Amino acid sequence: MLKLDFHPAGRHFLQIPGPSPVPDRILRAMSYPTIDHRGPEFGALGRSVLDGIKKIFKTQHPVVIYGASGTGAWEAALCNILSPGDTVLMFETGHFATLWKKMAENLGLKPEFLGLPGIEGWRNGVQAHMIEERLRADTGHKIKAVCIVHNETSTGVTSDVAAVRRAIDAAGHPALFLVDTISSLACVDYRHDEWGVDVTVSGSQKGLMLPPGISFNAVSPKALAASESATLPRSYWGWKEIIESNKTGYWPYTPNTNLLYALQEAIEMILGEGLDNVVARHVRLGEACRRAVRAWGLEIQCLDPAVYSPVLTGVMMPDGVDADAVRKVIYERFNMSLGMGLGKMKGRMFRIGHLGDCNDLTLMATLAGCEMGLQLAGISLAESGLPAAMSFIAGESELAGLRAAA
Ligand SMILES: *Cc1c(COP(=O)(O)O)cnc(C)c1O
Repeated sequence: MLKLDFHPAGRHFLQIPGPSPVPDRILRAMSYPTIDHRGPEFGALGRSVLDGIKKIFKTQHPVVIYGASGTGAWEAALCNILSPGDTVLMFETGHFATLWKKMAENLGLKPEFLGLPGIEGWRNGVQAHMIEERLRADTGHKIKAVCIVHNETSTGVTSDVAAVRRAIDAAGHPALFLVDTISSLACVDYRHDEWGVDVTVSGSQKGLMLPPGISFNAVSPKALAASESATLPRSYWGWKEIIESNKTGYWPYTPNTNLLYALQEAIEMILGEGLDNVVARHVRLGEACRRAVRAWGLEIQCLDPAVYSPVLTGVMMPDGVDADAVRKVIYERFNMSLGMGLGKMKGRMFRIGHLGDCNDLTLMATLAGCEMGLQLAGISLAESGLPAAMSFIAGESELAGLRAAA
């Protein structure tokens, strides 16, 4: 039998942009015994997580929790509100936006895929003005939904959701607004209600610090109303029965009890740190990481500084260097996993995750591992990236300390 040693000395550095490392507190919470999912204790757990998760999405409306990966919640969002043959406007920002579009095709929808030409589209954010223009031209309101990915995990670009909301409003178009926050929730500022999002899709294994296995639809009253007349087939994904059952803290079927323990713990951790502080920490780590990449003399994958991701940083390799060979050196030598280039970016870049249970020193160690690995792979760096990241991080925390003392 193949024997794999998953437990070398120290922690594995899981610096891919999801799944992100699961904190010990959450792993311990998951180890509580599985209970009767129809019993009274379960109802209390259900009500607690269903209520708590609303604070993370910043919504007063129902959040549906599925026992599925993020991809399942993508499908749920589409099939609850749309009908066969409906036109949906989607925006190409990278690999995940492309997969969601393929799913729409598979479900019998007609996606229109807007985007900047060529590789530009994969190095920039959603262009709200293009959406506005397209919606203005759609005078017959054939477009039923606008779908965007908030944080494009394949590239390291965080698009401006509020700007897309403004674009839809400026065009005076009634389309529903769907946002994938699978890798941005609990990392990046997000406001489901305030930004008028109709369905927010999210997942467990990125900012929420849980293992893979549950995912979410936050649902607006407008989306709920649309689901009454939408005719795409749905059964397991149907919101109605789940939301009805959720009112008392239960599900119509057996939910993922142990992941709900984990979710309860994660919500407590995030709200304990303060959602705004969690977001600020991600912003700080993203900036520190980019300073190191620039000092190395390497190119950041995202071309537009206005949409740099606080969740991960895509690092372009010099011409002729295979990014996957560099990742292999780092994995074998330093026990650290980095994200690979996906789709159009395969082999051309690697991705450094700095999300979830990640702090200043986690990032510094990650950057040290990258720097040593890049050198071992024979890439000549302009200079060390560590001093740039360190002085930024130290300066930042010093300032925070001074502010707190004032
Ligand atoms: C991870 C991810 C997905 C896919 O989620 P799974 O849990 O792998 O099904 C979709 N969209 C984005 C933006 C992601 O980061």
